[in-house]
Amino acid sequence: MALTFIFLGPPGCGKGTQAARLAEREGWVHFDMGSMLRAEIAAGGETAEEIVSYTSEGKLVPLPLIRDLVEKFFRDHAEDNVLLDGFPRSLDQAELIDEVLQRNVDAVVLFQLGEDEIRTRIIYRRFCPECGAVYNLRTNPPREDERCDNCGVRLSRREDDTEPVLLKRVRVYRQQTEPVVERYRECGLLRVVDASDDATGVEHRLKEVLGLND
Ligand SMILES: [Zn+2]
Repeated sequence: MALTFIFLGPPGCGKGTQAARLAEREGWVHFDMGSMLRAEIAAGGETAEEIVSYTSEGKLVPLPLIRDLVEKFFRDHAEDNVLLDGFPRSLDQAELIDEVLQRNVDAVVLFQLGEDEIRTRIIYRRFCPECGAVYNLRTNPPREDERCDNCGVRLSRREDDTEPVLLKRVRVYRQQTEPVVERYRECGLLRVVDASDDATGVEHRLKEVLGLND
């Protein structure tokens, strides 16, 4: 029976980094809706414009657009263990998961992080447009000023990492995603990890709550 894990948490909590690492280590398929949407945008066309009209304002992309991506993903990975990173983000999306997923959710991890910390992490977040490496100018800076350690390319900022968009995203998280967290807490699936530690510390706790050995 294929396993299904869900990682939830506010913007900047580091769940994406943890999800990528763990998925690689365990051989799970990493489902990252944010990257899927950015890929759709990069591909261009009508759908791209519609998606941008929501993401550029920090809003959730409407369900019909999400549904196509989710259905395709689960068709392609019916037999695999999957890790849903930052998804579902609303009760609607959670219902979509129950409907599309012909299997149970095994565990949901909440990465908990305070409001000030969220702000610092997002505002100083940069990425390398060449290799995709992620940095933070405060907490995880590159060796050379704003240049990638791997390729020396100048670092970029994600378009939606600005302060007004961030505030909007935090508000959307509180209003739409926290009810999802409560839903999984009520059915006993929720495991909470303090995300304020560095990546190694968080990874250690994550393995603990999921019962994975080093
Ligand atoms: Zn790079």
